[in-house]
Amino acid sequence: MKKYNSILAGFLHNYPSYLIFFVTARCNSKCRMCFYWKEIEKAKNKKELSIKEIEKITKHFKTLPYVSLGGGEPFLRQDIDKICCLFYKNCNARFINIPTNGILTSTISAKAKNILEKCPEAQLNIDLSIDGIGRLHDKIRGVKGNFEMAMKTYQELDKLRKKFPNLSINVLTVFSTYNQDKISEIIDYIKRNLDVNSHRIGLARTDSREQKAKEVSIQQYKKCIDILNRTKKASRGFFARILRGVYETSAEIAYKTGKNNRACLQCVAGKKLIVMSEEGNIYPCELLSKKIGNIRDYDYDIGKLLSSKTAKETRKFIKETKCFCTWECGIMNSLFFNPKFYPKILKNALKQAKTK
Ligand code: SF4
Ligand code: SF4
Repeated sequence: MKKYNSILAGFLHNYPSYLIFFVTARCNSKCRMCFYWKEIEKAKNKKELSIKEIEKITKHFKTLPYVSLGGGEPFLRQDIDKICCLFYKNCNARFINIPTNGILTSTISAKAKNILEKCPEAQLNIDLSIDGIGRLHDKIRGVKGNFEMAMKTYQELDKLRKKFPNLSINVLTVFSTYNQDKISEIIDYIKRNLDVNSHRIGLARTDSREQKAKEVSIQQYKKCIDILNRTKKASRGFFARILRGVYETSAEIAYKTGKNNRACLQCVAGKKLIVMSEEGNIYPCELLSKKIGNIRDYDYDIGKLLSSKTAKETRKFIKETKCFCTWECGIMNSLFFNPKFYPKILKNALKQAKTK
């Protein structure tokens, strides 16, 4: 229940409740649909935030229920477990998400174990990327043997989950031109071979390494989301169902937004959601290239940075232009702050309860 107190506190205050922190731009993959590839190419010249700097940052946040530690490949940071503990201890983070390409099996398993032991009240979500079965996955991700490595990582995490029920293993599939005709096969494979807490599908984003990656059929995407929803196992527990209801509703909104090419809801990025780069640059989201400032220039104080003139102008811009996109994480976070969607979320949550 303490987890949900953290959500409630994050919901009520005026600070961000969801932080996406790219802990490193280093990566050991070369994914064709990667949207972070330009940063990855500059990785060796970057001055990443140190653990001391991250500690100062966490001390300035108010309750931050949800933090996602991405990259690059986040497990390339040797101190990824220490970073999690800082967010857990200093800002009450209770939902910690780490996406991974699954290549570094033993590191991922050892660091996850450490996090679970040191942060017992947190829900640790490891999102394993699976974009194809076997060679298709390797081809999309540019690493020979990646699929087998990801499967090995799944098996190690599965062992860990038996000891730590607060570990969730999720699969994340990027819907791109390279796999759009294979998605039902992928969904079927995951369902038959892995016992995952959730399988989500996200649309390839703008500015991908290969422009071709995002040439997808939005109708085909909708078809895949429908298959996924039909074949999903019911979530256990009331809050898990509500969260699933939120995921389903955000996928529906992403589809509608892409189809109608206009906003379906008011985006709260820049206020309740922020993105921080490995060097401390703060953005309202992963898509809008409007830098608000660098946290190093504001004494590591997010409150100060978000009170700046640039931050206010950015939020005004998002509101006045009715900014829209199909980025599911952004939509998901905005849903919590758009009460008119609550009945829809509840309907999606109850639908699963009936199918249990
Ligand atoms: S998509 Fe992720 S794993 Fe692939 S290259 Fe980009 S950052 Fe690395
Ligand atoms: S609508 Fe999308 S692109 Fe615009 S601010 Fe929100 S998350 Fe960013």
